[in-house]
Amino acid sequence: MRITQIDLWHVAIPVRGTFYPAWIPGFPQTENRFTLIRLRTASGLEGHSAGPSIARERQGLGSLLGPYFLGERADDISSIRQRIREMGYLGQKAGWIEPACWDIVGKSRGKALWELLGGSGGKVKLYASTGQMRTGPERVKEVEARLSEGFEAVKLRVHAATLEEDVEQIRKTRAGVGSRPILGVDANQGWRVAVVANAPRWDFQRALAFCKAAEEAGFSWVEEPLPMDDYQGLSRLRAATEVDLAGGELNSHGLPEFGVMLEKGCYDLYQPDAVFCGGVAETWQIIQKVKAAGARYTPHTWTNGVGLAINLQLFAASPFRDETMLEYPYDSPWLPEVRDGILSQPFLHQRGELEVPRGPGLGIEISQRALRRHGHHFFKATKLRVAVSAVLDKGLRTAKEAGAARDARLAARERELAELSTRGEDSALCALRPD
Ligand SMILES: [Mg+2]
Repeated sequence: MRITQIDLWHVAIPVRGTFYPAWIPGFPQTENRFTLIRLRTASGLEGHSAGPSIARERQGLGSLLGPYFLGERADDISSIRQRIREMGYLGQKAGWIEPACWDIVGKSRGKALWELLGGSGGKVKLYASTGQMRTGPERVKEVEARLSEGFEAVKLRVHAATLEEDVEQIRKTRAGVGSRPILGVDANQGWRVAVVANAPRWDFQRALAFCKAAEEAGFSWVEEPLPMDDYQGLSRLRAATEVDLAGGELNSHGLPEFGVMLEKGCYDLYQPDAVFCGGVAETWQIIQKVKAAGARYTPHTWTNGVGLAINLQLFAASPFRDETMLEYPYDSPWLPEVRDGILSQPFLHQRGELEVPRGPGLGIEISQRALRRHGHHFFKATKLRVAVSAVLDKGLRTAKEAGAARDARLAARERELAELSTRGEDSALCALRPD
């Protein structure tokens, strides 16, 4: 199951109209952009994953990926994670690539990722996740529209200049929709972006006052009321308010960081996104730790259809699938065709629920037609191409020596994997346990 080819695309799916994400004030988002990766094995199996992007900032990624990943076994998740860690030392956060290997592992065994993880299929319950700022009366209409479609829960966004405006929105919404609907609210203070218009910055007092107001208005959770690394502040805030606190979507230091957050009691609800926190194996370990600590998990999914698919698989397999609800990004013009625009079948909810795909791996198929339309293929690595560029870069003799050293390492690893397999260990599944 060796990786013999790597392809990368810049994808840009147009938004019909303009979407104004609450988390980047003033930013007119006209496209859903991400980098798509396809790993191919010698036997022709293919795995995909996607990393959100702002522009074409991953243009140079291939020059690292080729020599790091080619020749590795897609089912040797521990080695794949080590390669990703090594890329990270140089500033390339590449945890989003790892799910492509799970896609291959699942396809090679005819099993969906949730099955590999020991979970079950069927349907999971969703909450409708809004993404734009609205006034109170506009929110009431929006929440009522979601309720009429079958959702039982909606997450609002607050990101106004003043506390008073934020509180007014949640009070008016609650007053307008009544006490029955489950409402959550995201302050998006975890990772402040003020690159276009200025973005509000909450201090502890403002976060506390808002949480108290959310509590009074019967909100079920407040998401990211403080910066994502203000562990102390979050823990103090959680102790001072009754409303559940949620967060962790862009915390990218994996299990050790979530361990610190759990130890300090930052949140009631942890929202690791496999695309940002290090991949499937890392997230699975975080989920187990969240469970052991008596907290709850539901992933962040607001990226693209591939990211939604990855987190859906993890959520479906998790012990929290009947306890919490999954985020379903849905705020016109951010509609399923924009979110999932390169999938053959977009994820369409049915009365606020989503059928977990039964297909192998991530259970998605990339529409080649849509990829030709919205994707720009910018990198292809094969062993020959990487060998040629190594010769041009280092000279024939040195490139040959380095190639032989690498081949020897891969052969030694192959022997280790064979040994592992004689002990009945699975090369992919053993990476689900902490190192
Ligand atoms: Mg959020």
